[in-house]
Formats: sequence, C-alpha cells, structure tokens
Amino acid sequence: MTLIDTDYPLVVTDLPGPRSAEYLDHQARWESNARSYPRRLPIALAEGFGSFVRDVDGNVFLDFLSGAGVLALGHNHPEVAEAAAGRLRVLTHGLDFPTSAKREFLDAQISMLPAGMRDRTKVHFCGPTGANAVEAALKLCKTATGRGGVVAFQGGFHGSTHAAMALSGLVSQKEPVADGMPGVHFFPYSYCGRCPLGLRPDSCQVNCVGYLEKALRDGNGGVATPAAVVVEMVQGEGGMIPARRDFVRRLRALTAELDIPLVVDEVQTGCGRTGTWFAFEQYDIEPDVVVASKALSGIGLPVSIILYDRRLDTWAPGAHTGTFRGNQLAFAAGVEMVRIVRRDDVLGNVRRRGEQLRARLGELETNPWVREVRGRGLMWGVELADPVDGRPAGDRAAAVQTHALRHGLIVEVGGRDDGVVRLMPPLNVTARVVDRAADILLAAVAACCT
Ligand code: PMP
Repeated sequence: MTLIDTDYPLVVTDLPGPRSAEYLDHQARWESNARSYPRRLPIALAEGFGSFVRDVDGNVFLDFLSGAGVLALGHNHPEVAEAAAGRLRVLTHGLDFPTSAKREFLDAQISMLPAGMRDRTKVHFCGPTGANAVEAALKLCKTATGRGGVVAFQGGFHGSTHAAMALSGLVSQKEPVADGMPGVHFFPYSYCGRCPLGLRPDSCQVNCVGYLEKALRDGNGGVATPAAVVVEMVQGEGGMIPARRDFVRRLRALTAELDIPLVVDEVQTGCGRTGTWFAFEQYDIEPDVVVASKALSGIGLPVSIILYDRRLDTWAPGAHTGTFRGNQLAFAAGVEMVRIVRRDDVLGNVRRRGEQLRARLGELETNPWVREVRGRGLMWGVELADPVDGRPAGDRAAAVQTHALRHGLIVEVGGRDDGVVRLMPPLNVTARVVDRAADILLAAVAACCT
C-alpha cells in the first residue's frame, strides 16, 4: 500500500465495520474476558505503514497509540523490517548464547547511555516483556542488598505479572488477585495537578519526596531500608505525568546516601520517547538500574533488558533465566533502529514534533473540562475533569477516544479513572500528521466536553 498522507485518515464505514465486527465476535467467543484494547477501540487490524494503520474494512487511522509505545519508528519501517528479515533463515533464536546480532545490539545499547555510565554498566537479557525485566530488576536488587522491601509510587505502572503488579498503583487490577508480592511501600509521586498531600507546587518544597525521606530516616517510620526504589520519570499509564526535576534529584540523592538501588523504569519513556534516549538524562541523574523494553527493536519485535551498575552483579548463574531471551530478529532490528535514530536525528524530531503537539494541544486549555495538558517529547496527556467538582472525567475521555476513532485517530486513555487522553505517535511522525491528529482531537474534545 502506498502512503500518500494527505489522503489519510479515511474512515469509510461505521465502527466497527462489518468485517471488524465479525472478527470481534470471533474474538469474544474464543478469547479471554481479560482482553482490553479492542473493547474501547473496536477494530480488527489488517496492515500498518508508518503512522497509519488500516483495519480489515479498509478504514485508515492515524495511530497515536503505536502499539502502546512499541512502534518507535512506526509500522513496518522498511529498513528495520529489512534488517529483521535478514536474520530469518540464518538464526532466529539463540537462548542467551552470544551471537553477532546480539553483540551488535548490546554495543548499540551501551553506546546510547550517557558516557559516564558506559563502563560501569552490565546488561541482562530478560524474558521479552517489560514486566519480566521489572521482575529481573527486583531480583537483582534483592540479591545484591539482601533486603526484601521495595518502595514504589502511587499512580505508577510496571506491568501485569505478580511482582510488577504489586509495584503498580492500579488497584482494580490488584484487588481480585489475593496475595501479591509483600513488602511494597507506596509513597506519593510529584503529581502536582492533584497533589497527594494537598499542597501547592510553588510552596510545597517537594514534600512528596520529603515524606519518603522522613519515613526512611525515621527509626520509627515503619519502613525498613528497602532493596530498591522503583520509579518512572514520566508516569505513562498513570496519565502522562512528568516527575518534577527537584523530586527526581532529591530521590537520587536520598537513595545514594542510604545505599538503596534506584531503579528507573524506562519501559515506556525509553528509546527516545521523551526526546532523549532515556528520560532520566533530562534530570541529570544516573540510576543504578534502568529497565527497557517496548521500543528497543523499533518495530514491535519483543525484547527486554535491564542495564545496571556492575557492583550489583552478585546474582548467580541462572538467577533469571527464560527461554525467549534471544530473539535475533529483535536484536538486528534494534541495531538498525539505533542507526536510524542517529542518522535521521529522530530525537530532534521528537523534540520538534513534541513542541508542535504542545502548542496545538494548548488550544484545548480554554475548555473548562480540560484540567491539564502535559507531557514530554512525544508522550502527551490531556487530563479531563468535571469543571464543578474536579473529578476525573473518565466518561468524557472515553467519548473523546470514540469520537477521535470515528474520525480516524487512535488514542489511548489512562490515569486516574481513565480520565486522561494519551497520545504516543511514532517518533518519526511528520509535522503534517501531527497537525491532522491535533485537528481531530480538538474537534473530539469540542464535541464531547461541553
Ligand atoms: N513499565 C512501564 C512503565 C510500562 O508502561 C509497562 C507497559 N505499559 C510495563 C512496565 C510493562 O511492560 P509489558 O506490558 O511489556 O510487560
């Protein structure tokens, strides 16, 4: 299919279209009740190209979901696809044996770290999901410190396995499942739009992290020194909430002083999403452990790693095994992804298109239902709330999502009560596509939030 982006998006049927409806019926008949995305975005996918995706009825959408942030270079980037295909019929699976593709991938990942971190970093290849890498990070830190507890932050999301879920804020996912990982202590995140301590950003003195600091220093604070503090630089699923700079810097200073490994979960923010390769770079800190997954291959082939300080490398051979840790196609794609990011100044594009999106979304701020527009790079959220009582307006966000889909734009929702409309276009998105998407979203908010 040729891409003429002036012609798209183009929605030619009601949604779901007749063929999508048939696929969705089949899915409902056979697939688990826990399926999620197609409940709110009722389409069956046929083909993707760049920032666009076509459903089985021939409707073409702008994809600002990007496989939940996986498709960093859009659907089927030709050079990345070619690089991956080059490994087919050569070597596809390698457990954790060294291979040329893996070595190049490893070298590429290390080369993207800030210079000061490179020599002290080791990498573990995890099972291919973000959640599995989070599990690995926890096990590494527990083994290295000999401690059990973990500090996590309200509103955070780290995955759907038992331990990753235990670290996540989403109560509805945890409540039905008894006996999650014990020893997790939740502390407030710097969510200034809804300060968990009821303070004001100009006078709060970042008491969210101050509260953690007091608890950890207080012999009667109830929290034993934890094995790790796990944090996102921008809470993604939590509603695109960038952490305050002073929050992150104090957290780094505190954990360094108390010798607590700081784990930065860059599963969603990593690989350029916020305009630097990793979001932590914008805070001028160096974490002890970085968790990366989603966009590592640029094209949706599964791979996940933790990059960590070699002083933590005390775990035993076989401490975190897994069959699917050697996806050679993903490695080859990831090497090509890094090459393209450098060659095409993709990070510069993220910053420029991010500014464009910020300016366009800013037009929404006069709507009384729009509580806040926020984000970093190409990770943006529009928080909708009832103008009278300030409650998260999940119903409006869902309506905006549906309206946008009908007009050819795929967006996600998240945050408290799913009241935040979330946008995550491919990192190489064009100015024209950003403008089209903004037009559709603005019209959707205008139609649904009156
Ligand atoms: N950490 C973060 C910050 C995430 O956003 C996600 C997924 N949305 C995960 C971990 C879990 O990744 P996965 O779904 O690949 O297990």
